Amino acid sequence: MAVNRTPLIAGNWKMNLDHLQSIAFVQKLAWALKDAKHDYASTEVAVFPPYTDLRSVQTLVTADKLDLRYGGQDLSQHDSGAYTGEISGAFLAALDCAYVIIGHSERRQYHAETDEIVASKTVAALRHGLVPVVCVGETAEDLEQHGPSAVPVAQLAVVLAALDADADIVVAYEPVWAIGSGQAATPEQAQQVCAALRASIAEHLGEAAAERTRILYGGSVKAANIAGFMAQRDIDGALVGGASLDVDGFASIARFRQHVGTV
Ligand code: PEP
Repeated sequence: MAVNRTPLIAGNWKMNLDHLQSIAFVQKLAWALKDAKHDYASTEVAVFPPYTDLRSVQTLVTADKLDLRYGGQDLSQHDSGAYTGEISGAFLAALDCAYVIIGHSERRQYHAETDEIVASKTVAALRHGLVPVVCVGETAEDLEQHGPSAVPVAQLAVVLAALDADADIVVAYEPVWAIGSGQAATPEQAQQVCAALRASIAEHLGEAAAERTRILYGGSVKAANIAGFMAQRDIDGALVGGASLDVDGFASIARFRQHVGTV
């Protein structure tokens, strides 16, 4: 974690919690962080509920003036039209979403999202003023065949080729073998890949973009291991799946600075 980049702790709820549950969850999370005197300016906290929850979350965040950010888990590469089931970035922006996750490995695997689609969705997000959280990561087979960095760097390169140097994006390095497996990468492994991703951003978009872009690690992050990741130079936060569904656990991850042995 570098001092000039504000860490982001992001909770990907996936297909969990309906709109009523989302209200209770966000209220409890806000209380837990308030009780702990969390400084949102020093560590940003965001949740990524299902689409059907977003209006409820927006209403609560606005009414209670919460500092929590939120976003969608995906968006369409198109802005409007005959695309049944798709959600436009314009709709997410209208609900005051700050972020949108793009190219999560579950989208790539179950919805055949290619690097080109991920690039096109990233451009769509930027078009609507949303900050895309672009996910990249290798499978266990990729790791065995190509080593740790080759596949995530190649995936990101396709996205970077479609962007201007001033594009505001977040990158999430999520090794597929670590997602939901309970077997996180080591902080050193994650750092190695995140450094390679940052070098690739420098190559495509320039040093300033590389210095400013936040790179998250994701894959079996929990309160017990977050500090090790956050101590790495090129890791600026975490994309958290399973552990983001537990209010206290997620609040504790957001409070990583308080953990023993942290930076
Ligand atoms: C994810 O799905 O983005 C993720 C990182 O999941 P988990 O934290 O459960 O491994």
